[in-house]
Amino acid sequence: MVIMLDGKATAQTLKEELKVRIKKLERKPTLSIICVGNDPASVIYAKNQAKACKEIGIDAKIHTFDKISDLKLVEFISNELKDEDAIIVELPLPDEMNTEKILEAIRPDQDVDGLHYVNVGRRLFDYEDVFYPCTPLGCLEILDRYNIEIEGKHAVVVGRSHLVGRPLATMLEKRNATVTQCHSHSKPLSKYTLLADILITAIGKAKLIKADMIKKGVIVIDVGMNRDKNGKLCGDVDFENVKEKCSFITPVPGGIGPMTVAELLANTVLASERKKRKK
Ligand code: NAP
Repeated sequence: MVIMLDGKATAQTLKEELKVRIKKLERKPTLSIICVGNDPASVIYAKNQAKACKEIGIDAKIHTFDKISDLKLVEFISNELKDEDAIIVELPLPDEMNTEKILEAIRPDQDVDGLHYVNVGRRLFDYEDVFYPCTPLGCLEILDRYNIEIEGKHAVVVGRSHLVGRPLATMLEKRNATVTQCHSHSKPLSKYTLLADILITAIGKAKLIKADMIKKGVIVIDVGMNRDKNGKLCGDVDFENVKEKCSFITPVPGGIGPMTVAELLANTVLASERKKRKK
């Protein structure tokens, strides 16, 4: 029988644990959320993140700019936000902006999205004071919380973005999984997905993964957040038809979405704890 991996409940457990850690700090952890342009999805993400912060005692501020030059934003991050524990920039930034330049302005110890090149490099060499991106953290956390063994499994990751697929593959390999990373040139995709013990999809294509593309008993983690032809939120996996073949599966919504938000809170608390330790 298939077991649903409940991201909402797992995220709530994690948040309760974070409240306890926050109580041990001398002051509230601080997070600055930067939003440029009026991308509706980014505005919603920022509001949800700030709300989740407030619920557990993180002091979050949203900084909204209709339009700002790269230089002005770099100065804002370096000067106005230098004392913040944590900073994130909602992506994508407007086309005319230089995303790398903006991300590099965030100090690696404040970079709770784990996108600064110093954090990317440190992850490869197992440095301790590093940040991992929130969505891959959420994927591993939910597997761990359900006591699903990663070591020795064949994990197939579909997607290789800097934010999700690529760091996820590294993290799974570090946990002693054998990892296959797929992307839009992996053809036919089913040749790889059929071999997965753990299948993680971060594609952005509604219901692309069908029942005949997976083996029986597979563990499925669906990162995708898409709209189906009726405008309903759905994942990369054809959930209704796939679920009966799985041993575990995350739903969309209610799977990796809430886990990602919870991991942002966890990284913010971690940033604050590290700062306290350094004092
Ligand atoms: P992305 O940057 O667009 O990357 C998509 C990846 O999927 C790329 O590596 C692409 O391959 C690959 N791909 C596209 N079509 C494919 C196909 N037909 N077969 C195999 N691979 C294919 O997207 P992302 O930022 O990683 O996000 C992926 C999905 O996760 C989106 O739906 C996004 O909304 C969702 N997401 C959810 C959360 C959450 O909190 N739940 C967080 C982040 C993202 P190429 O590299 O060859 O182009």
